[in-house]
Amino acid sequence: MALIVQKYGGTSVANADRIRNLASRVGRFKKKGHQIVVVVSAMSGETNRLIALAHEVTPTPDPRELDVIISTGEQVTIGLTCLALHELGFKAKSYTGSQVRILTDESHGKARIIDIDGHNMQKDLDDGYVVVVAGFQGCDAKGNITTLGRGGSDTTGVALAAALKADECQIYTDVDGVYTTDPRVVPEARRLDRITFEEMLELASQGSKVLQTRSVEFAGKHKVKLRVLSSFQEVGEGTLITFEEDSKDDNMEEPLISGIAFNRDEAKVTILGVPDTPGIAYQVLGPVADANIDVDMIIQNQGADGTTDITFTVHKNEMNKALEILRNKVQPLIHAREIKGDDNIAKISVVGVGMRSHVGVASQMFRTLSEEGINIQMISTSEIKIAVVIEEKYMELAVRTLHQAFELEET
Ligand code: ASP
Ligand code: MG
Repeated sequence: MALIVQKYGGTSVANADRIRNLASRVGRFKKKGHQIVVVVSAMSGETNRLIALAHEVTPTPDPRELDVIISTGEQVTIGLTCLALHELGFKAKSYTGSQVRILTDESHGKARIIDIDGHNMQKDLDDGYVVVVAGFQGCDAKGNITTLGRGGSDTTGVALAAALKADECQIYTDVDGVYTTDPRVVPEARRLDRITFEEMLELASQGSKVLQTRSVEFAGKHKVKLRVLSSFQEVGEGTLITFEEDSKDDNMEEPLISGIAFNRDEAKVTILGVPDTPGIAYQVLGPVADANIDVDMIIQNQGADGTTDITFTVHKNEMNKALEILRNKVQPLIHAREIKGDDNIAKISVVGVGMRSHVGVASQMFRTLSEEGINIQMISTSEIKIAVVIEEKYMELAVRTLHQAFELEET
């Protein structure tokens, strides 16, 4: 007997038929004697619909009330999932985030989980129930409903798996695993049998939409065994997310590159000609961080004339807010020559632990892009990642040619 957490995404609960399918799959696991916790997302499109609805009422919805609204999608699907399980003769009980007591901090819209009370769930499991929990939501210490950020049901799944010390956390989605890149852009993309947590974390944070970044982080930290599977196929091992040490046992040669992620959600903010004095980066980026704007890449370049240029990237939705802060709060102190934004960019990242022991990956990437006449605007690297910012219109071309250059296709 194993304790398994199964998380089902929006497409897996998109209508009554799919929910019935989900229930039969859960039922099959239950019949094998396993204890099952199901985490569901809202029906696909529902969270977007609720956000749009709130914006019809006001362009600037209050974050607390927005969370009250957008957490309802998952409340519907937990109830429906339990009904479908009851129809099949299984005992099942639903829980919202606050009923479990998934305790989070107070940052509405991107709350972090602080603690999970597993007692009631464990008791239900021991009594033979399938426990069905609403993804994406929790509550703060005062009882306010919070949400965990888009795609946050993955994090709920992983966090429950950690809290309940589950044997495995299975993420069911509309693809049958993690691919070398998005098959919609490169049809030759290949499913990976396994990938390391570090690689998955880079891919997720660089734009791969298969798993929410936080869920991977959480799973890595708490050593949760994580597997991505298709909810539309009966068979298949999906992709197992492993620890590098474990995957090395296989004696398999590590691939140089495991995957390519891309992201067109970022925008570039550039501050030209600020005095090159100690503390300038802090003066520029401090107020941006204080406004809770996530900054991704940062580049600072010293000029010859005693000034320096700073460029950084933020989410497209936050570019104007960042520019406003810089122009109104920062500019009077730093007197930059120019402050400008550009949201016509895309970021492409190649990721692989094999990079650690090989040189030349960066130069191969740059050569491939130059052969296509694609200009690189920014570069950033980590031990296992090289990311470039290019003009948005070249994104698909860049992904396709890099996928080929690194021989990631199906063979
Ligand atoms: N329903 C939420 C969203 O669409 C959470 C999730 O699906 O994971 O972002
Ligand atoms: Mg998702």
